[in-house]
Order: sequence, then structure tokens, then C-alpha cells
Amino acid sequence: MAYTRFKTKQINVGGVLVGGDAPISTQSMLFSKTRDIKGCLDQLNRLYFAGADIVRLACLDMADARALKEIKAQSPLPLIVDIHFNYKLAVFCAEFIDGVRINPGNIGSKDNIKEVVKACKERKIPIRIGINHGSIEKQFADRYGYGIEAMLASAQYNIKLLEDFDFTDIKISMKTSDTQKTIEAYERLRPLVSYPFHLGVTEAGTKFHSTIKSSIALGNLLLKGIGDTMRVSMTGELEEEIRVAKAILQDSGVQKSGINIISCPTCGRIQSDLVKAIKIVEEKVKHIKEPLNISVMGCVVNALGEAKGADVAIAFGKGQGLVIRHGEVVAKLKENELVDRFLQEVEDEVRVRKEA
Ligand code: SF4
Repeated sequence: MAYTRFKTKQINVGGVLVGGDAPISTQSMLFSKTRDIKGCLDQLNRLYFAGADIVRLACLDMADARALKEIKAQSPLPLIVDIHFNYKLAVFCAEFIDGVRINPGNIGSKDNIKEVVKACKERKIPIRIGINHGSIEKQFADRYGYGIEAMLASAQYNIKLLEDFDFTDIKISMKTSDTQKTIEAYERLRPLVSYPFHLGVTEAGTKFHSTIKSSIALGNLLLKGIGDTMRVSMTGELEEEIRVAKAILQDSGVQKSGINIISCPTCGRIQSDLVKAIKIVEEKVKHIKEPLNISVMGCVVNALGEAKGADVAIAFGKGQGLVIRHGEVVAKLKENELVDRFLQEVEDEVRVRKEA
């Protein structure tokens, strides 16, 4: 299957390029109250170390907006402010923030939209139009019902409101909580505009369900070349959102970064503690950013075949096993020595790649 990414306009979110040929970025949103500056900074630092590219914060009032200014001054990551209805907050935040998420259709008069556009233009920051199935404007819901038609009409209406003021640093999301509707909404809007898309399934649930829903919907869209930045939304999780988003990019083959682990499910042939080994390996390699394929297999039945496609591999046997690098056996060791040697080979492979 050939992967071809839809060519979109490129925008800049605080130094992170989104769209065009820029890497597909991963985002999250803080669940700390924005006025809790320390709480927000703690969460931002956690997301930074988890590898997030961009973070969004809600802004309900001026107390939040003022706190956000202080948070931005200390933030390790670009920040987007999420505002509904109150254009004055958007104008205030545009002076220091990296992007604004606001739907121009719900901030009142054209003069209000003009003010927000002027503030964003002055600082060259983008606006995300966030179309959400659950909050479609009444005019479109009355005409089309709460479905994809209404979302498409709303998206085009909101885009035009910005374009009428000659503003095109736009990013769009078309979120629903249903995987099939989410796929359809993005797919149907894609040929109609050239702005970058922020992918996401909204209210996707807890870690388990969100991982599945997001993998289906976002994976499906990414494989069709749709998507420039993405958020996996999960109830009460932070780092896990980024971990799953990166895994979707990695495991769909759309964007390689970090380690791709191939491990067998184990079966009655196994004669070693592969489950313990894979947990250690997963923990020890998670800091690696280089795209590497590693394989950890329970016996030689499939291990040698998998090892040929892996950069570094282990094939466990009875009380002993092989460490294999690029298809060549580099060590035959006792079981309790295998993981350490394997990890040494992985680190050495990373070193060689960095020096190349
Ligand atoms: Fe079973 Fe060996 Fe396959 Fe693992 S690699 S599932 S132990 S046959």
C-alpha cells in the first residue's frame, strides 16, 4: 500500500511547523485549572518529557488569561489557548500565546472576528477552527440535524469568516466521539480545503477505549494521507496520550521515530521468561528517538526470520539464547545474560547511527 500524504498549507505554532511536509506533531491538553500556574507547569513538564509537541489550555475568564501569560513565559512547549464565545480573551491572549482555538461563528459580530484576526495577524499566530459534533451552531443543526452535513457546513462557514478578513493561517479539526463519523467528517472535508488538519476523536473515553478508538480512526485517516497534527484524548491520562499518539504514527508506518518492538505472544513452546524480558527491554529503550526495529522472540521457530528484518534481536531457547544484529549472530549466552547484552547492542546501534 502506497502512503501519500495530502499536501496542505503549512502553518507555524510557536516554532512547530504543522502541515506541508512537516512531521505530524502530537498534542495534548492540560486538565489542571489554568489559574493553577504551578499545576499547569508540572503537567507541561511531564508532557515535554513524554515528547509532546504542542499543548492546549482552556481559558474561561481573565483570571485564566493572566495565569496563562505567566505559564507561557515558563513553558517548555508551544501553547494554544482554547476559548469559547469571549473574543476579548482571544485578543488578550494573542499577545503572548502561540495559537488560538476559537470558532469565529460563536464569538458574535464581524467586528469581534476582525479584532481577533487583527491580533493573530500582528503576531503571525494561527487559529484552529474546532468543529465538534456535540457543539454545532444552531443554524446548521436546524438545517441539517446533528450529523456530518452540519459539521461540513459549519467548517466551511467558519473558514469563510476568517478568509473574509484575509486570514489563512488556519488549522481545522472535525471531531466526533464516533470512529466512523470522525473518519467520514475528515475525509469529506479534505478535498474541499487545503488547510492542515488536527485529527482527534473527542470524548474518546478511558485509556483502553481511547486507544482503540483513536487507533482505528486516526490510523485509518493517516494511512489515507490525511492529518498534520493529532491528539489522542483520554480521560485522566497525560503522558499516555502522547505515548499512544506516537505509537499510532509508528505502528501505522506513517512516521518512524523511536523503537519499533516486535515480540511474540509466547506459546507452549516457550522455555524462558520472555514476558519479564520484554518488560525490561520496553522500559530501557523508551528514551531512544532513533527509528530502530528490535525483536524479542520466545524460540527459534520464527525468531531467525524476524531477526533478519530487525536491527537487533533476541531469540530465546532453553536456558540460553542468541543475540542477533542485522541478521548475524553476535552472541550465544545463558538466559540471564541475554537482555543485558541485547541492550548493549541496541545502544551501540543507536551510537553508530548518530555518528553516521
Ligand atoms: Fe511460540 Fe516461539 Fe512463536 Fe514465540 S516465537 S509464539 S515461543 S513459536
